[in-house]
Amino acid sequence: MSLENRKFTHNNEGFSCEYCGALVLPRRQSCRNHCPSCLSSKHVDLSVGDRANPCQGQMKAVAFRYTSRKGIILSFSCLKCGHKAENIAAYEDPIQSDNFSEILSLSASLSSPRLDLP
Ligand SMILES: [Zn+2]
Ligand SMILES: [Zn+2]
Repeated sequence: MSLENRKFTHNNEGFSCEYCGALVLPRRQSCRNHCPSCLSSKHVDLSVGDRANPCQGQMKAVAFRYTSRKGIILSFSCLKCGHKAENIAAYEDPIQSDNFSEILSLSASLSSPRLDLP
């Protein structure tokens, strides 16, 4: 693998979402890894934060669940390799919160029976 993915080595700086174009601001407490607008992120980690994964596929939010301790947890699935990951939603972030209606739209796809799938 070449080093051309160097722009993703910054851990906690703002970036522009390559899927919807929204400017994603850095978070103070924890490292944001998904776009607050379209909830997509990129499959760049082998283990959390190392940016060592050559996949580079789009990690798309597919579902969410609620826990009383951590709040809303988003489930992501890589469109390229099928890898699954979870990340805490930043829907109460004072600087830039996640698109709450986008999160709720995930719930609809979760609760409806998947009768149309093989
Ligand atoms: Zn986006
Ligand atoms: Zn992947």
